[in-house]
Amino acid sequence: MNLTVEPPKQLYLKHKMPKIEINLSKIAHNARMLKSMYQSKGIHIMGVTKGVCGSLEIANLLVDQGISQLGDSKIENLKRMKEAGVQAEFVLLRTPALSEIEAVVDYADISLNSELEVIQRLSECALEKNTVHKIILMIELGDLREGVMPDQLDRYIQSILQLRGIEVVGVGANFACFGGVKPDAKKMNTLSHLASEIRNRYHLSLPFISGGNSANYNWFTSTEQMGEINQLRIGESILLGQETLSRTPIPGLYTDAFTFYSEVIESKIKPSVPYGEIAQNALGFYPEFEEKGNIRHAILGVGIQDVLVGGLTSLLDVNIIGFSSDHTVLDAKKVDLQVGDAVAFNLNYGALLSLMTSSTVSKEYV
Ligand SMILES: *Cc1c(COP(=O)(O)O)cnc(C)c1O
Repeated sequence: MNLTVEPPKQLYLKHKMPKIEINLSKIAHNARMLKSMYQSKGIHIMGVTKGVCGSLEIANLLVDQGISQLGDSKIENLKRMKEAGVQAEFVLLRTPALSEIEAVVDYADISLNSELEVIQRLSECALEKNTVHKIILMIELGDLREGVMPDQLDRYIQSILQLRGIEVVGVGANFACFGGVKPDAKKMNTLSHLASEIRNRYHLSLPFISGGNSANYNWFTSTEQMGEINQLRIGESILLGQETLSRTPIPGLYTDAFTFYSEVIESKIKPSVPYGEIAQNALGFYPEFEEKGNIRHAILGVGIQDVLVGGLTSLLDVNIIGFSSDHTVLDAKKVDLQVGDAVAFNLNYGALLSLMTSSTVSKEYV
C-alpha cells in the first residue's frame, strides 16, 4: 500500500482530518469492467450510489462509463443528482414511503414498489402532475425484505393495471440483504418464470427483469443461462471490487478505491487492561480486554459518531481495541505511532456508508 504513516506534524498540517480519499479512476475502472462483463451475457447494470450518499463526482463518473441508470435508496440523493444535471435515468431503490410520494414522482423516473396503497398514491400524484410514473414491482423470493408474495402477484398486477399514471416497466427481486439468501440458479429461474407468466398473461413488455445486486456475481459467473434476467443493480462491486455473498474480490477490480485517514491525538504506553471497579462503558457494554502487559495505546480522534469503527481495517499492523462516540483506541503493537500521525484504513460497505454520510469527515477526490 502507498501511504500509511507520514512523519508527525506534516500530514495534519496539509490535510483536514478525518478524511476519506476517493480514487475516481479506480472506481471508473471497476465500473467499466463490470459493465462489459455483465453485458457479455446480456445483462445491463444499474449503478447504485447509496453507498456514497449519491456523490455527484461518482454519479457523473458512472454515467461517463456508459451506465445510464442510477439507483439510490434516498430520494434526497436522487434530487441532488437530478438538480445537478447528472444525465441518467433515476431509480428509487427503497420502496417509497407514503409521506414522500410527491418527491418520488418529481425526482425518480422509476421506483421499486411492493405496496398497493403506495402505488395508488403514486398514480394519483402522477395524474395531478400530468405525468406517468414507472415502477418495477418487487417480488418476495425468500430474503424477506421487500416484495409481494408470489401468490399475490396476480391480484397486484390486476389492480395496478387499473391505475392511470403508472406504468409497470419490470419486476425484480432482492437477495442477500435481510435474510442473507443466495440468488442462485433456482431463485433466478423462479423470477424468470414469474416474469414470463406476467408478460404473457397481461401482454406487458416488461423491459426490466431485475435479478438482484452485487450478490448475483457467483450465479452470473456459474452459468450461461440468464433466463429472462436482464438487469442487476450494482453498488458494492463497483465501489469495493467484491461480490457480497462471501466478500470475495472480483478478479481484475480494485478493492482499495477508498481509504480513510484518521489522526493520532494521544500516544502513550499504558496497561492493556482497565483498572478499577468495572461498570458499563460509553456504549452500554461491559467491555473485555486481553492481558498483554503494557502496550502502546494510540487514540484516534474519531469514533462511532464519525464512522462505523467495526468496518475499518488498518493498513498497519495495529489492532482496534475499543471506541466511543469520538475516540478509537488502538493497540499500536510494534508500530511507533506518535501524535499527529495519520493512520490509514481500508473500508467495508458499512464503514463507507457511514463516512460518506458523515458531516465531520472531509471527502477528497483524487
Ligand atoms: C442497495 C441495493 C442494491 C445494491 O446492492 P449492492 O450489494 O451494493 O450491489 C440493489 N438493490 C436494492 C433494492 C438495494 O437496496
